[in-house]
Amino acid sequence: MSLFAARRLVKRFGGLTATDHVSIEVEAEEVHALIGPNGAGKSTLVNLISGLLQPDEGTVELDGVDLTPLPSYQRVRKGLSRCFQVTSIFPGATVRDNLLLAAQAHSGSSFRFMAPRNAEAALQDRAHELAVRVGLDKEYDRIAGALPHGAQRKLDVALALAADPKLLLLDEPMAGMGPEDSARMVELIQLLRTDMAILLIEHDMNAVFQLADRISVLVYGRVLTSGTAADIKGNAEVQSVYLGTEVHA
Ligand code: ADP
Ligand code: MG
Repeated sequence: MSLFAARRLVKRFGGLTATDHVSIEVEAEEVHALIGPNGAGKSTLVNLISGLLQPDEGTVELDGVDLTPLPSYQRVRKGLSRCFQVTSIFPGATVRDNLLLAAQAHSGSSFRFMAPRNAEAALQDRAHELAVRVGLDKEYDRIAGALPHGAQRKLDVALALAADPKLLLLDEPMAGMGPEDSARMVELIQLLRTDMAILLIEHDMNAVFQLADRISVLVYGRVLTSGTAADIKGNAEVQSVYLGTEVHA
């Protein structure tokens, strides 16, 4: 059984079917990328999976738990974290305080039996460890909102990691990045993949072809095809969907 499975998800907006019986699975330690032209239903699918939208039909399951009836914050507790494209950052606070807040929010009862001073030290350790993990330790005492875009995206990833996810949902992590920052984000995702499964929605085909074990192509709310990078590059239907775009990396 797969670690994660979205099964036959349907979402209608009035007469428009944004996702039409979409099924997608992610195995443990797999990076599964989802690509597709504008309007294909990628964002709708991400919102159905993270719980911002309720499906008209279908289910979402992680590690044997049916997440479909749960709101977003409870899905996070069950191991599904999503990056929110910087919007979850407190711009006026330091990197440290952003991470401390996130670490505290997800600490649950883990510090309950510690003396307050030890609990505080454990939280500080956890926050710093998150900064190191995404490569923000040098920016630790800087104000988050004053960081360059690429660093803010890393902080966003670190905030999602605070929940210790089994599945990390990355919605266009390279959006608005130059080639240097994109390359660093690819490196970061390569590091993370050893610890968690990743569902990656991304326009940057180079990044997708470097990272993905499997790629699914969404078109008009349906999965057109799924396969390895080589399968997708050689698929004539995919090429016609992406006519004018660079599919060959
Ligand atoms: P993508 O992220 O792949 O570009 P979206 O999921 O944003 O695609 O959109 C899929 C389709 O659903 C589009 O035709 C879009 O206009 C429509 N859609 C998305 N969200 C809404 C909404 N809240 N209300 C009405 N239509 C929507
Ligand atoms: Mg979108």
